[in-house]
Amino acid sequence: MFILDQQNSIASQLLAEIRDVKVQNDPLRFRENMRKIGTLLAYEISKKLNYKSETIQTPLTNTEVKVLDEDIVIISILRAALPFSQGFQDLFEKANFGFIGAARKPHLSDVEVEIDLDYLATPNLNNKTVILVDPMLATGKSMLKSIDQLLKNGIPKIIHIACTIAAPEGVRYLEEHLNTPYDLWSCAVDEKLNEKYYIVPGLGDAGDLAFGEKI
Ligand code: URA
Repeated sequence: MFILDQQNSIASQLLAEIRDVKVQNDPLRFRENMRKIGTLLAYEISKKLNYKSETIQTPLTNTEVKVLDEDIVIISILRAALPFSQGFQDLFEKANFGFIGAARKPHLSDVEVEIDLDYLATPNLNNKTVILVDPMLATGKSMLKSIDQLLKNGIPKIIHIACTIAAPEGVRYLEEHLNTPYDLWSCAVDEKLNEKYYIVPGLGDAGDLAFGEKI
């Protein structure tokens, strides 16, 4: 697992801002910070991808260059992923896109969390390099359920799971239950989940902060 915040970089400043109640309550700035963090994590993922040589012509001569040799599909888990995944779209300009709607069912009890999947739009995923974007990896259940649905649309070469903040519980859940090749990328791994399955210290509700409270 890769954790961006373990390195010295400007990502730490951006992470601090999306967590800070004094800063995060400006939705435009929150979305913009999420987008920037997405680009920084996308850049880290780009280091693990394949490149091929090509000959191009500069104004002075021909020269060998390296270009990306991957069919990338960026899948965003709605709605919270949208600003974060914009950062991935900015970097991987030739990617294709998919979307999946995953929401927690309203709480009947605090002992279980159930996930509703209500929307899926994806290209064929056979042999693709999938980057699955969800800012908050909490229980891991919506991630696993989303991946189960996605795999009905083809078997990717690998799935890069990209999060802003992960809970140890979610990381463990994926390790124990996910049986397809994946790499996990997060900007930070926090302390724990609380009794409502929010990540602590976390940042609150990423979807609400970006787009306003829902009913
Ligand atoms: N989703 C969020 O938006 N925040 C959390 O802490 C957990 C899941």
